[in-house]
Amino acid sequence: MNEFELIRRYFSFSVPTGDDTGVGDDCALITPAAGHQLAVTTDTLVEGVHFPVDADPDRLARRALRVNLSDLAAMGAEPVGATLAITLPEVDEAWLEAFGAALAQDCEHYGCPLLGGDTTRGPLSLTPTLLGRVPRGEALLRSGAAAGDRLYVTGTLGDARAGLECLQAGDTDDALLARYWLPSPRLAAGVLLRRFASAALDVSDGLLQDAGHIAAASDLVAEIQVDEMPLSEALRRRAGEDRARLWGLTGGDDYELCFTVPPAREGAMCTAMAEAGHRVTAIGVMRAAEPDGERVRCLDRHGEPVHIQGRGYEHFA
Ligand code: ADP
Ligand code: MG
Repeated sequence: MNEFELIRRYFSFSVPTGDDTGVGDDCALITPAAGHQLAVTTDTLVEGVHFPVDADPDRLARRALRVNLSDLAAMGAEPVGATLAITLPEVDEAWLEAFGAALAQDCEHYGCPLLGGDTTRGPLSLTPTLLGRVPRGEALLRSGAAAGDRLYVTGTLGDARAGLECLQAGDTDDALLARYWLPSPRLAAGVLLRRFASAALDVSDGLLQDAGHIAAASDLVAEIQVDEMPLSEALRRRAGEDRARLWGLTGGDDYELCFTVPPAREGAMCTAMAEAGHRVTAIGVMRAAEPDGERVRCLDRHGEPVHIQGRGYEHFA
């Protein structure tokens, strides 16, 4: 099978509408929505670095798309379409069949047609680029938080870290493994948050790191109440209370949203999110920047500082 046959068979499942075009020409043509800005994001996934060798192609396709959709969600954007640059070591038809079918399903589910891409030979790696749209001026930036804003997260944290451990240990805990392989990009929550949040991002590198990005971009300190962390039962069972909290604070790959809300909009935000079925938890507050330049401060339930050593937590050791 040559390159063009491969593209036709496995990557030509989306049908553009109107004057727009997708796979098959030198470029895809997209009509920008009036009054909107385009949100563009890309994330590379390399075998052995971002996912284990011999990963299941179905889950891999979905994960590659979803981690990029999560970046759109974090901006309050909605999907317009995707391209996929893929490097394959060989043409394995069973692998491509499973990969293409899963990708087609997820693209359909998330309303994100595959508009183009590139296919080359090399070590397995995937680089989706996603296009989203957001009403002009309404995107959620990292830099919009103010001192006094409350810090929130959606869902629960630390599950994907536990899922990765299950994977490495060869254990089956379906709930945790699914949190690693099949993140749920919080697109609907992101759209709602355009009305309420002052800043947002998605938690891909661990809460402490990512909350630090909002703090740095907004020139503030994120003060986190470690005992308020939303932790799932599955995580607690697997990791125990202390390690569950540590993974909630430092584990990556959860793809929940972390956002700040001015106190005056907090009540309305909580009502709107609850009505739409999105779990949100207040985990801290943004404070004025300190001369020492520290961007994240952790406190326990007594208001005592909790010290961080590297990525680990001495307090819980
Ligand atoms: P060109 O050489 O003009 O860049 P290519 O031969 O690389 O075009 O690709 C042919 C068409 O197939 C293009 O429309 C491109 O966007 C699409 N395409 C190539 N690889 C993929 C892929 N993995 N997924 C989706 N579309 C792809
Ligand atoms: Mg060309």
